[in-house]
Amino acid sequence: MLKLFNTLSRKKEEFAPREPDRVSLYTCGPSVYNYSHIGNFRTYVFWDVLKRYLKYKRYRVRHVMNITDVEDKTVRMARKEGKELQEFVKPKIARFLLDMAALNIQRPQVVAPVSKNIPAIISLISKLVAKKYAYVASDGVYFRVRKFRGYGKLGEIRRNAIKEGRNRFDDYDRRYVRDFCLWKFSDKEPNWKSPWGRGRPGWHIECSAIAMKYLGERMDLHCGGTDNIFPHHENEIAQSEAASGKMPFAKYWLHARHLTIRKRKMSKRTGNVAYVHELILEGYTPNCLRFFLLSRGYRSKLDYNEKTLGEGMGFCRAFGKCVKKLKEIRGSGKGNGIGKGMVLRILAIAIGRFERAIESDLNTRRALLAALEVANECGRLSHKMSSKEAGIALGGLRKMGFVLGLKWD
Ligand SMILES: [Zn+2]
Repeated sequence: MLKLFNTLSRKKEEFAPREPDRVSLYTCGPSVYNYSHIGNFRTYVFWDVLKRYLKYKRYRVRHVMNITDVEDKTVRMARKEGKELQEFVKPKIARFLLDMAALNIQRPQVVAPVSKNIPAIISLISKLVAKKYAYVASDGVYFRVRKFRGYGKLGEIRRNAIKEGRNRFDDYDRRYVRDFCLWKFSDKEPNWKSPWGRGRPGWHIECSAIAMKYLGERMDLHCGGTDNIFPHHENEIAQSEAASGKMPFAKYWLHARHLTIRKRKMSKRTGNVAYVHELILEGYTPNCLRFFLLSRGYRSKLDYNEKTLGEGMGFCRAFGKCVKKLKEIRGSGKGNGIGKGMVLRILAIAIGRFERAIESDLNTRRALLAALEVANECGRLSHKMSSKEAGIALGGLRKMGFVLGLKWD
């Protein structure tokens, strides 16, 4: 039974989708004001393993991801470079999709840039305005946080800790300091027509609108990085549940920790970044990068340094070596065989351990070690194996390789 740590309940829960054989999954995608680095991909690789495992367990998974291509920072940086917004974001989106493919991350069925989903956003804001969960101010449309009773349930913000009254030093024309912008008036490009005036959407509303457009008013899984919990996901819950009147908006909220580099968060701002395509050029294969990224569970710390990267590379090389050996035997097995039953028994034990590791809140480290151990054992016995047995062993490794997202040639 798959157990996942649900940020909403703050405990590990048994995963039971709303429909028995289908899973709806939403992941917050990248902000494309800059190129994504290996740290950004840590979270995407985990959701990819989760999705692959669900598929391996025969669920039909519908996966949607947004791309934040309209947002204050992006608009500011495009202007600074004297470029149109689309001209500015296009190479970053292209690079993100290329790196995603290079890392063997399965592409979501829907990859939705905000700029292509403005009508859905406007219609969601209209609903909130009609229900008086949103109000129109002089500089934009805001969500009325105090009207939504459940505010703070995800990020554990206590109601009495939410300051009352308007912040005098606020630059925005909102009535209350926690109210957040749904639509920002702007007469400069990029802007769109709306019932309240020309402007562009705030950041949080895009994920609610895109998730609801493609997955419906409620979904099974909503994933992101830990820095999305508050305010982004808190605000998503408020907007979505207020508009639909249904809850929970997402049954399970999963959050992955960030990759650090020499103990600090990998960040473009501080310049301590490594990019996927550069690492590949340096000779790290995509399989090795996945081994590295998965060498600690998604809720555990992972620091990018020579030691951790080296450990991931070591796992990867050892696994690759065993697979290669088995392939050779499969091609020209001269051994008498160790008995098909024995091969199947080794695999069954290993796959059992592998599944238990994944089902224990995606413990990818234990899963990797289980895969590696069986690979080593099969490698050790391979010279005695017949071609057929080597083929069976490879089949078992391939199953685990599929879930881990290893490329296989
Ligand atoms: Zn989001």
